Amino acid sequence: MLTREDYIKYTAEAAKYFEKAGIAITEEERARIEVAEYELGCIDKVGLELLVYVNTDRCCAKELVLLPGQTCPEHRHPEVNGKVGKEETFRCRYGEVYLYVDGEGDGVTKAKIPEGMEKYFTCKKEIILKPGEQYTIMPDTFHWFQAGPDGAVVSEFSTKSRDEYDIYTDPRIDAAGKRHAD
Ligand code: ZN
Repeated sequence: MLTREDYIKYTAEAAKYFEKAGIAITEEERARIEVAEYELGCIDKVGLELLVYVNTDRCCAKELVLLPGQTCPEHRHPEVNGKVGKEETFRCRYGEVYLYVDGEGDGVTKAKIPEGMEKYFTCKKEIILKPGEQYTIMPDTFHWFQAGPDGAVVSEFSTKSRDEYDIYTDPRIDAAGKRHAD
């Protein structure tokens, strides 16, 4: 569980990144920045901060902040009640993002998988996103991503978010049955 102190600390950090990225947010939005820590107790490695702008039946837009080295764990967005899973586009606004999707890699990755969690990060195809670059993840395909040394701000444009149905490679996250992030 995230402590109140951690919540304050990580949302304050995230707010600084919005500034660095030149992304204006209102006071109301500042007050509802969320912290996803996936109940693993290692938020500096597996965790991220986010701000949801809109999430309707048809579309969703949010901002993700990853502090240096923070990782969004591997997951996919499955079909739910006959509705195709979420399609999402990540656009880097600040810093650098190392994104991994289903496919072959060359064995050398920029990201550092959190120690002892190698089996929960199976996607090997690497896509490096710098500011102004983007990539679209098709529904129900595994992906994970990590910020580079300067952290990252990533805009996410997608179909509806149904975070509670996301499937994580790490069974501890699914078992936590909590709201997920992206
Ligand atoms: Zn996702």
